[in-house]
Amino acid sequence: MNILVINAGSSSLKYQLINVEGEIVLAKGLCDRIGLPGSLIKHKAHDGRSVTKEIVMDSHLDAIKQLIAVLTDEEAGVIKSLDEIDAVGHRVVHGGEKFFSSVIIDDEVLRTIEECEELAPLHNPPNVTGIKACSKILEGVPQVAVFDTAFHQTMPKKAYIYALPYEYYEKYKLRKYGFHGTSHKYVSERAAVLLNKPYDQLKIVTCHLGNGSSIAAVDCGKSVETSMGFTPLDGLAMGTRCGTIDPAAVTFLMNKEKISTEEMDDIMNKKSGVYGISGVSSDFRDLEKAVEEGNERAELALQIFAYQVKKFIGAYACAMGGLDAVVFTAGIGENNPDIRQRVCSNMEFLGIRIDPEKNRSRGIEIDISTDDAKVRTLIIPTNEELAIAKETIRLIGKA
Ligand code: ADP
Repeated sequence: MNILVINAGSSSLKYQLINVEGEIVLAKGLCDRIGLPGSLIKHKAHDGRSVTKEIVMDSHLDAIKQLIAVLTDEEAGVIKSLDEIDAVGHRVVHGGEKFFSSVIIDDEVLRTIEECEELAPLHNPPNVTGIKACSKILEGVPQVAVFDTAFHQTMPKKAYIYALPYEYYEKYKLRKYGFHGTSHKYVSERAAVLLNKPYDQLKIVTCHLGNGSSIAAVDCGKSVETSMGFTPLDGLAMGTRCGTIDPAAVTFLMNKEKISTEEMDDIMNKKSGVYGISGVSSDFRDLEKAVEEGNERAELALQIFAYQVKKFIGAYACAMGGLDAVVFTAGIGENNPDIRQRVCSNMEFLGIRIDPEKNRSRGIEIDISTDDAKVRTLIIPTNEELAIAKETIRLIGKA
């Protein structure tokens, strides 16, 4: 079965056509600068054929039309007709408290996703636009929504309620939701397979470390705690996001610098994190290069990031009352031995001990612990698109 996986952002739309039985990505691509001058589509087929072309895309509807055209054309197409798309799986950022798992999209579901827009004003509207565009062009093809928040809906109340007046939770549903759920679920399930142990008997801390980073405590197959919050700004210092800071620092800075809420939002989301600390870059490869050249603030940024990951692992082991495995995933988690080494140093007291040789690995599934380590430390490349495609099949199989 071929599943079209759509990840729609405000001005871009990523897609993959996946043959699920063979776990083959038949084609993938990106429609970029939608609604802006210079919009373009970049498309790559599994056999290496590729197309990049500038083409006017005023809306997500145009983008879907273009990607369908390129999927079926002679130049770099991989299917003969739309009939070869069995279903569409959409990544939807926020499912609020309404969605505990993925769902088949119908009018009612779409309305409920639209109701969640208040919680994710930047992310949910393009997801909804993507769903509506697919319904028009791929009429009759089943569509499934897979939510970033759903996996964390198993968190207990003590983990997700903020110590603010309770009425704000009741009035606005202001609480911790957590994100990257598809990734945390996928890599924790893979960890159980790799360790050859039942998923529902393992205590796992999953570290999704990319541009956006979050950590989750997965206790017996259920997320019981995670580092992102009401929005993806909370938790770890990230590429450009500040993560957890004293909330009073926000009002202090707004008063001192006479800045608006929009500007403050921009500072916390786009000018902070390792970029803000180092003044160099949000990309860890640039930071490592700067460290080699003697840049002390780049070194400080790496230290802060690794220190925070370490503290979350410790905290989550306590939250679960034990720890069987730590998983590193996403761009940094999969490819950055230095960060993994910094995080795992001096963690022997907890049972974590990694083998420096094995830790050199990048982008493969591997257990990097020493043989005698009580806690297994794993690298597991995440694959959110494959997870969405599998979820989609699972659901339409049920329908
Ligand atoms: P996003 O959250 O945008 O999906 P990624 O998961 O791609 O981000 O993570 C981006 C980070 O991962 C960057 O800081 C980058 O340095 C690091 N990264 C990604 N790929 C590699 C690689 N092949 N080698 C080293 N670092 C990498």
